[in-house]
Amino acid sequence: MTVQGRELPLCDNHAHTNPIIGMGPRELARRFRREGGRFIVIVALLTWSLGLTPGDLNSVRRMYDITVESTRIVNEEGVRSVAVVGLHPAEGYELLRRGWSKEEVLNFMRKGIDLAAEYVREGRAVGIGEIGRPHWDVPGDIIDLFNELLEYALGVARDVNAVVHLHLERNGINTASSIIGMVRRVGNRPYSVVMHHTEPITIDMASGNGVMPSIPMGRRGEFEEAVKYGPRFVVESDFIDDPKRPGAVIPPWTLAKKLKTYLFNGFINEEFLQTICVDNINRVYGVDVMG
Ligand SMILES: [Zn+2]
Repeated sequence: MTVQGRELPLCDNHAHTNPIIGMGPRELARRFRREGGRFIVIVALLTWSLGLTPGDLNSVRRMYDITVESTRIVNEEGVRSVAVVGLHPAEGYELLRRGWSKEEVLNFMRKGIDLAAEYVREGRAVGIGEIGRPHWDVPGDIIDLFNELLEYALGVARDVNAVVHLHLERNGINTASSIIGMVRRVGNRPYSVVMHHTEPITIDMASGNGVMPSIPMGRRGEFEEAVKYGPRFVVESDFIDDPKRPGAVIPPWTLAKKLKTYLFNGFINEEFLQTICVDNINRVYGVDVMG
């Protein structure tokens, strides 16, 4: 997609692809490219969504490999792509549900994070995620467990210079301030920590304190709201590539279409798009989207 012969920087900061039950990375990349997509971050799914076994480290490795391989295929189709690998909080929660002790879950989840760090050190992935806290209601001691893991993962990420994608409850500035506190204690590089699927209300506090808010384009009214805070965030589809749940989130090519519509109807200008999709992406990943 071009404006006066120039290509637009259309990018998706957080999406999943499922080569087992979904369309997979090649078709996803082709459709995104057709709408002008330039850059996409592919994030690990859940072990069981790929037919793998929760609580089994070989399955985790396989899931990370599938994520990395997906970015290779997406790159092949002319869309720049990087991988973020890690264990979703649902992964740990599932083990608790199956009767694992908290200690066993902590140990296993830490191994998953250490493995993700290995992928980053080897240059196969750029980040660890999505990790964090359950967005659903859980008892306080379970929140404590995930907070312990979260702080551990932030430390590991700092040590290997990894980006982090956080999956969190949507509790506005309370959520943002708890993350800012942790990031400050741990000392992660500014804007290397991304609050995935966050609410516009967190933008001021997060971006003002070196944490990058990622706004979902599929949630009605939220991008419009986010724009009021200025170009201090990135955008994401959070596509899950699951044909059984088509309406859950939007696909990356719909994100691209929406960005173009907002540009053409004047809701945002080119400078705004440039800031969220080139400058902010570069701040997080050090990648030149238009390069
Ligand atoms: Zn996600």
